Amino acid sequence: METLDCERGAGYRTQLLTRDHAEQFAACLEANPLFQDVEILESPRAKGDRRWYVAYAPATEEAREALLHRQQDRRIATALVEFDDYLIVPSGAGFYWVQGSTGHVYEVTDLTCTCGDFTHRCQGNGLRCKHQVALRAARREGRIAA
Ligand SMILES: [Zn+2]
Repeated sequence: METLDCERGAGYRTQLLTRDHAEQFAACLEANPLFQDVEILESPRAKGDRRWYVAYAPATEEAREALLHRQQDRRIATALVEFDDYLIVPSGAGFYWVQGSTGHVYEVTDLTCTCGDFTHRCQGNGLRCKHQVALRAARREGRIAA
C-alpha cells in the first residue's frame, strides 16, 4: 500500500510479514531498478511471527511525484465527500476552527492544521490535509459560518 510520512516521503509498504518473507520480498525489490530505499522494519506494536514489514520507494523522481499527486488527490476527494459534515468557523485569531467528520476540532490555516495527517504526513511533503482543502473550498464558495 502507499505510504506518506515526513521522513521518508511518499512510498510503499507491505502488510506485516514473517521475517523470512520480509527478507525474501526485500531482496526482490532491491534487485529491481524501479525501487529504492528498501528497508525491513519491525512493527513496534505487533506480536508474534508476523511483525515485519518492507518499506520502499519508487526509484525515479517522476514516480515519486506521481505518488505525491495521488496522495493529494485522495485528500481532495475525501474533503469533497465529507464537506457537508464539516463545520468551519473563523476564530478571530488568524485561524479557522474546523470540526471534522468525526467530531474532532482542529485549528486550520492555509499553511497549517493541527490534525495528525497534516502533522505526520502532509507537512513535510508539501501537501494539504482534507481540512485545509475544505477550508479553501468553503472560502471560495462563501460557505463559512460567521
Ligand atoms: Zn487537517
